[in-house]
Amino acid sequence: MKIETSEISLPLLKQKSVRLFIKRIDKIHPFVSGNKWFKLKYNINEARKQGIDTLLTFGGAYSNHIAATAFAAKENGLKSIGVIRGEKGKCLNPTLDLATRNSMLLTYVSREDYRNKNTSQFISRLKERFGDFYLLPEGGTNDLAIKGSAEILDVNDTQDYICCSIGTGGTISGIINAQSDSQITLGFPAVRYYETLESNIDSWTNNDNYNIINTYSLGGYAKLNKSLVYFINEFYETHEIPLDIVYTGKMMYGIIDLISKGFFSKGSSILAIHTGGVQGNKGMIERLGVRLPVS
Ligand SMILES: *Cc1c(COP(=O)(O)O)cnc(C)c1O
Repeated sequence: MKIETSEISLPLLKQKSVRLFIKRIDKIHPFVSGNKWFKLKYNINEARKQGIDTLLTFGGAYSNHIAATAFAAKENGLKSIGVIRGEKGKCLNPTLDLATRNSMLLTYVSREDYRNKNTSQFISRLKERFGDFYLLPEGGTNDLAIKGSAEILDVNDTQDYICCSIGTGGTISGIINAQSDSQITLGFPAVRYYETLESNIDSWTNNDNYNIINTYSLGGYAKLNKSLVYFINEFYETHEIPLDIVYTGKMMYGIIDLISKGFFSKGSSILAIHTGGVQGNKGMIERLGVRLPVS
């Protein structure tokens, strides 16, 4: 598959003698956004191989993974069930609306039950209710997802640095496994720092040539501030590239800030992975009344 990579042009980059590229895996598919396509690919094959016709997974009400699983299941002739954290709202938000329109069956569980979602009791109750299913964890990270994510990089991606946003760390682990010896991957968590993140990544990868940059998570998942919103809109107006507010916006904000602070030495090249997620901007606009690019 040929994926478009474009070079970003900015006076700052000239001034610092750094080249910045963005790999548009968000463009692979309008709804199975970016990295989720790679994470689902081998899992869908495996579900088929096992003869299971239903995918079941978990997520919050704005989860890109929920939207992507619904769409990918439908495209592959599979059924899907989304176990959603929290109470059912009066109306469906844009993410859940998209999931339902792609025939995902939604079921809502209390936050307390949601915390127990990985226990065998909880899973067997789901099996009693829905029959057999292929279970994808929250966020979709498992060995097959990491294997799929390794295919995000190809031989043309020879930049010195690869940058990727982090939720569970599954996607970046695939990338770390695929990078060459001379490359280093920088991870930008979109979530508040959690202790097991690095040990998870270490257990999923075969080299430790990566760094986690914790400075740009803005305090947690889906947390935002005015500068981030301003940055995303300005980036869209300048480069016509939409970034999402939860993941890729924070990563790109971080990359540009690091460049301006001289983090990258002269002559280095950077590849930012646009992992997608722009579908989530709609829900954020609806909820907070902020302005954001939608496609
Ligand atoms: C889910 C998601 C991520 C994080 O992926 P992980 O594999 O959980 O680290 C990054 N970017 C976007 C747009 C996502 O939807």
